[in-house]
Amino acid sequence: MLVIVGAGAAGLMAAIQAGRRGARVRLLEGSREAGRKILISGGGRCNVLPTHLDPTRFVSDSAPHLVKRLLGSWPLAAQRQFFEEELRIPLQEESATGKLFPVSNRAREVRDGLLAEARRVGVELVTGVRVRDISPAGSGWRVEVDGDSLAAGGVILASGGLSVPQTGSDGIGLRIAEQLGHRVHPTYPALTPLMADPPVHQALAGISLPVRLVARAGRERLVSEGGFLFTHRGYSGPAVLDISHLVARPRAPSQPGPTVAVEWVGEADRVDWEHRLQERSARSVGTLLREVLPARLADRLLQEAGVDPTRQLTQLRREELRALLGRLCRYPLPCSGDEGYRKAEVTGGGVALSEVDPATLQSRRNPGLFLAGELLDAFGPIGGHNFAWAWATGRSAGLGAAGVIG
Ligand SMILES: Cc1cc2nc3c(=O)[nH]c(=O)nc-3n(C[C@H](O)[C@H](O)[C@H](O)COP(=O)(O)OP(=O)(O)OC[C@H]3O[C@@H](n4cnc5c(N)ncnc54)[C@H](O)[C@@H]3O)c2cc1C
Repeated sequence: MLVIVGAGAAGLMAAIQAGRRGARVRLLEGSREAGRKILISGGGRCNVLPTHLDPTRFVSDSAPHLVKRLLGSWPLAAQRQFFEEELRIPLQEESATGKLFPVSNRAREVRDGLLAEARRVGVELVTGVRVRDISPAGSGWRVEVDGDSLAAGGVILASGGLSVPQTGSDGIGLRIAEQLGHRVHPTYPALTPLMADPPVHQALAGISLPVRLVARAGRERLVSEGGFLFTHRGYSGPAVLDISHLVARPRAPSQPGPTVAVEWVGEADRVDWEHRLQERSARSVGTLLREVLPARLADRLLQEAGVDPTRQLTQLRREELRALLGRLCRYPLPCSGDEGYRKAEVTGGGVALSEVDPATLQSRRNPGLFLAGELLDAFGPIGGHNFAWAWATGRSAGLGAAGVIG
């Protein structure tokens, strides 16, 4: 029997693929129901996949070619085909973001579709059972669950990382993998909102707009474009989440702290602020800024730059222009930390990719043990990349385990 620990995205996919190849599969889920993270994903709509998958945008402490190889094991078009043709869940593209959602916009359809397919291929799902430990026993494995133990020919660990613990992720898979001798890169929250303490922008909470962010930490420089939101505690939105790991990542005390600077792009398409501010026009600078940016933000930037909003563009002094351009194009965002795993969409770090055979995801140290999903050391930007990782690694582990265990 093949035991799969965790009925999340990776575990469900692994179970389906192993079940289809005739393996006897028992899927153990610690929560009351399977796939709770799928249900809350994409704001309840589940961004199943991206329209374009770029492995170089994944973050990992492991070798980049391994990330590419694991993602490439199930190309994006084939993943899409699985959902649309095999599960019969039509997907539609959100053209502004390049994200694929079910046409129904219901994450439940995705979760239920996976569950139905798992049942159809004979997978036995047991919910409300937390795995406490696993250990080698003879040629197979002993799986310790609450007050009981079961024998397995092989085990797939797909118990996720540490993000949003109320969905069932407490990092036990990472601890088990480490105890079994695997190298685990230090973990950190990723795709998580950032905090500003003191909350210098609290008065702007609720304002959202498109931006371009530049984050630096040591020699690393990241640029992200997209939605930005002022929150009561700091900053959120896709552009912020995508650079948040630079702030959250552990670093040596000698390393300089990360910096984040923002260009307020606003609704205008690729604003060229320098050009706009030097327009030969009798309009006031306040009117111009409020046409592109939310009024409260425009007023705050003008105030900080010491520029009277009623001043006509043609009358702006050189120092005023410089002060304003700095705040519009390179506005430093003070960040005191991140919102942690409670709000993180994924976990950075995890089991080193060199610890598994990239074809089967079988552990190189423990034959008969396979690893898949978020507990492996890689995550992608928002936009469906992390499910693509979970589906691809889950599939490889399921096929690999079915081939080895039979
Ligand atoms: C709010 C939110 C929104 C997101 N939206 C998207 C999105 O739209 N698109 C996207 O691509 N990604 C999204 N993600 C990321 C995505 O959900 C994860 O990358 C993905 O779910 C990881 O899959 P996984 O199977 O490895 O882990 P999980 O989905 O976390 O599944 C692990 C499972 O293992 C179970 N488990 C843990 N420990 C045990 C144990 N000891 N015994 C038994 N079972 C156990 C857990 O209960 C859980 O069901 C989102 C994440 C969050 C938090």
